[in-house]
Amino acid sequence: MHSQRIGIVGGGAAGFFAALACAEAERGAEIFIFEKTSQFLSKVKISGGGRCNVTHACFDERELAARFPRGERALIGPFKQFQAGDTVAWYAAHGVKLKTESDGRMFPVTDSSQTIMDCLLGAARRADVKLLTNCGVENITRKPDGRFALTLARNFSPAPPPPEERAGTRRSLRSNPRAATRAPLGRGAGEEFAKEGIICDKILLATGGCRTPALGQLAVSLGHTLEPPVPSLFTFHIETPWLRALAGVSVEMAEVSVPGTKLRERGALLVTHWGLSGTAILRLSAWGARQLHELNYSFPLQVNWLPLLNAEKLVMELEARRTSQPAKMIVNSPIPSLPARLWAQLVQASGVSRATRWSALSRAAQHKLAQQLRRTEFTVSGKSLNQDEFVTCGGVRLSEVNFSTLESRICPGLFFAGEVLDIDGITGGFNFQAAWTTGWIAGRAMAGTGAQGAGRDDVSPPAVSGFISSAGS
Ligand SMILES: Cc1cc2nc3c(=O)[nH]c(=O)nc-3n(C[C@H](O)[C@H](O)[C@H](O)COP(=O)(O)OP(=O)(O)OC[C@H]3O[C@@H](n4cnc5c(N)ncnc54)[C@H](O)[C@@H]3O)c2cc1C
Repeated sequence: MHSQRIGIVGGGAAGFFAALACAEAERGAEIFIFEKTSQFLSKVKISGGGRCNVTHACFDERELAARFPRGERALIGPFKQFQAGDTVAWYAAHGVKLKTESDGRMFPVTDSSQTIMDCLLGAARRADVKLLTNCGVENITRKPDGRFALTLARNFSPAPPPPEERAGTRRSLRSNPRAATRAPLGRGAGEEFAKEGIICDKILLATGGCRTPALGQLAVSLGHTLEPPVPSLFTFHIETPWLRALAGVSVEMAEVSVPGTKLRERGALLVTHWGLSGTAILRLSAWGARQLHELNYSFPLQVNWLPLLNAEKLVMELEARRTSQPAKMIVNSPIPSLPARLWAQLVQASGVSRATRWSALSRAAQHKLAQQLRRTEFTVSGKSLNQDEFVTCGGVRLSEVNFSTLESRICPGLFFAGEVLDIDGITGGFNFQAAWTTGWIAGRAMAGTGAQGAGRDDVSPPAVSGFISSAGS
């Protein structure tokens, strides 16, 4: 007899972490993860270019929260309960060592997202979490007794394997946890679910970003409001031919800003075939997600290629070249922190010809060159979603959620975790950290006596024995 039944909608980072935190806090709870696709943790798999940027080496809760354009204030409290250091410790306790790169991003030492998937899937199986793929939750209603009736999609996989094969499947899952990401649900169990749905004492919505309003429909149907979705973490389209000719060139530290707004960010800048990318651009796009959306992604952009040199120091650098190498052509003597090809283009974009020598550079031309280096003007004409990491700005309104438990303030027994909330961070592992933190807190908060779960007489318990990974190892 289980103490209570917890239904977790969404088998991503937040859903798994919540399930594990709940199972660790309350052994007797029966915990389901319902995943609508055929694969669990599919974003973890592709994250960080296949390496999974698990978190960021930022161990102060306020500093960590400050990396969230949406959700900063709401996350300070949750980070006091579970922050990046706790993520590192959690994974270490579960056999996964993380390493820190020079920019603070943290990855598994294996440099493979599969390590994180195997860890989460293996821990869920050991905790006897019921893992259901191809099992989308289509509708949720709150019953008069406070429990929740979930209607599940009818796209279950065909025939259940015979008992002897099922035992074999369990054995193979034990030896190969990856199999659990693909394992189907037996028809018998599926039909029972499809016919009757399932009743849960508490539910967690961990359905990911609300890219379209339909993806936030479950939260809305339970009384919640969605902040409208717009993309965050995207790269900029810029038509300027000389810039595009530099595709592949990068600088370690540049400053980008949008004139007429407060948007300004520093970081690496990468020239692409369609414009600009890199940390500075992604961070600017995150902080400006709503503003840039309102501008229809058409706006002026200013680049300071040498943000660590103030105007005075830059003039001194240029003067030093003029006196120390007067006969040298300007295009051939770049300032050290700038790639030679970029320097040559910037020199010409400032109106100085390729053949000009330092000795022939007029004061006015030198001033223009300095301006070009500190304030190159581009026009952004569109955006592309970043291939390595993109998130949605928008989601369940934060004022409707109690952030000490992640429980709904509108519908008791309903919890939220991860990107379904109107929370998104800049690039660097912050978005997963929000998923781990909110999942962990929600999972612990859902653990409890489960008094409401007593006497489930209106719905038969599902045929759990037919499910893919109910067997602990
Ligand atoms: C390409 C890419 C790379 C990224 N890399 C990084 C990175 O390295 N570091 C980082 O911090 N962040 C990264 N992110 C962002 C990060 O992946 C997300 O912030 C994080 O996955 C959010 O976790 P989640 O569990 O809230 O949502 P998701 O991971 O999106 O999981 C939600 C799950 O819910 C399921 N679902 C939805 N509706 C239903 C339903 N009705 N019934 C059942 N199941 C449902 C979905 O199929 C999905 O599996 C990346 C994002 C992308 C797209």
